[in-house]
Amino acid sequence: MECEMCGRKTTKTNRVRIDHAILNVCDTCAKFGEPVNPIHGYDKVRYNKPDEITVTIPEKKPSYVRTGPRPTPKPKPKRKPNVEELDIVPEYAELIKEARSRHSMTQEDLAKKILERKHVLSNIERGELLPDIKTARKLEKALGIKLVESA
Ligand SMILES: [Zn+2]
Repeated sequence: MECEMCGRKTTKTNRVRIDHAILNVCDTCAKFGEPVNPIHGYDKVRYNKPDEITVTIPEKKPSYVRTGPRPTPKPKPKRKPNVEELDIVPEYAELIKEARSRHSMTQEDLAKKILERKHVLSNIERGELLPDIKTARKLEKALGIKLVESA
């Protein structure tokens, strides 16, 4: 067996690629080339399909789409610490309505008196909106009733 590079007699040749040529060369010349592995058909793929290079463009996601996990909402504390524990009485709606009638006030009158919007008061009187302590205090004062109780 002869080395195809230097022509020296050799017992074992190495299949290498040198300058785009596949040569069977001796161990010394093999250092100048790139080893070729015919089992995996490396050179076949490389030389038979030179133009079939597929460029994969990563799909762009719209910026408004959230990809990460949603932040988990923090559990709301049931009561604020260091605040007097007060509750609105459950029958607040009836109490307000009755007291307002006693005072011959319209919802608008009462709303003006407590500096609240009429539809807010309307919702409160229907029992659909629980007034906050501040609003309840104003209603108590305006109507002479008790709406807030200690828990
Ligand atoms: Zn050689």
